[in-house]
Amino acid sequence: MIHEIEPDFYDPAYDGNRKAESKDFALAYRGNQVLAFVENGLVRLPSFEVLKELIGSKMKWEEIIDNAYYLFSISDQPYFLAEPDLTGVQAMNSKEELEEQLLDRDLGAASEKRFFVMNINRFRELLPTTEAIPREDFHGKRSPMVSMIFAAATGGHFAWWKHSRTYCGCCGALCEPSKTERAMVCTSCGNTEYPKISPAIIVAIIKKGENGSGSRPQTCGWRTNKVTESDGRGISNAQAAPAAVSAQSNWADTDRLLLVRNKTGPYKKLALVAGFVEIGESFEQAVHREVMEEVGLKVKNLRYYKNQPWGLTYAQMIGFIAELDGDDTITLQESELSEAGWYLREEIPEAGFRLSVGNEMLHEFKMGRIG
Ligand SMILES: [Zn+2]
Repeated sequence: MIHEIEPDFYDPAYDGNRKAESKDFALAYRGNQVLAFVENGLVRLPSFEVLKELIGSKMKWEEIIDNAYYLFSISDQPYFLAEPDLTGVQAMNSKEELEEQLLDRDLGAASEKRFFVMNINRFRELLPTTEAIPREDFHGKRSPMVSMIFAAATGGHFAWWKHSRTYCGCCGALCEPSKTERAMVCTSCGNTEYPKISPAIIVAIIKKGENGSGSRPQTCGWRTNKVTESDGRGISNAQAAPAAVSAQSNWADTDRLLLVRNKTGPYKKLALVAGFVEIGESFEQAVHREVMEEVGLKVKNLRYYKNQPWGLTYAQMIGFIAELDGDDTITLQESELSEAGWYLREEIPEAGFRLSVGNEMLHEFKMGRIG
């Protein structure tokens, strides 16, 4: 997932007195687009000294570095929010466009820096396929690109929050960063605004297959250590490990997962039901409400899965697994969704690189590891 950046480590501790230095990272945004550059075929985020090359004489670099706002560190490397004038910087709309224009043989291999801005949602999609990723590192859940994408998304969350608190929501006066804590404070009435993180649930709803309840193990196939003779399938622990395919083709492949497709928003692939938690609601209550609202279904046996920061929507995603309770007839919330359906494990689309908890749950279901 996007925050799993080990062996790097993230430190968000606030230091209001920290001043930027030329080798520190300078995260800069034009709306929801992040500034990056290509050099020697690699996509990178700029340091302040690299930023100096971009802005030339357009702005006073000293002013930019003096006004930079400390965000966080990754493996002791500081990242600041910088606000250079990005007017005129070329925008890249997709990884294909980036590969064509900036990563081709002539330009991609050049030592000259080519700056661009890219929507953070598109920027994260650079991960699976671009030539900028050393392919030998791209397998499993880790890639050296993850730290960079995490930094861009998290910095974007901070940048949006700080910008949206330029003026006080109570009296309209200017706000300024607190010196002592991560907050924006009104210069007139003292109203203090802390970072906005919106909790949202995401849920893998499973309809048990015909052979599902009663005789099946709690975990599936080759990862289970609970498969015994008593399961009635004549398979021992020793036999279970290499028996992934046959185990799945036996009982597990009749389980189905509910997938939906959003009508609005930038994400158009099949996904799990998700929604923001309301004021006064527990995460579990939010799951029941969202599932009923979006697809008209009841669920039971909620199990917490994992959670993750998701700066792209200023959210904290809390993942659950739930079982269908009763009638499987879907009633689509047509204002939000264009389709919804039940999918067998083998029908689940490959999620590519699993940056989100939703994609990880899709993958884990597909592999038979959740059910
Ligand atoms: Zn105020």
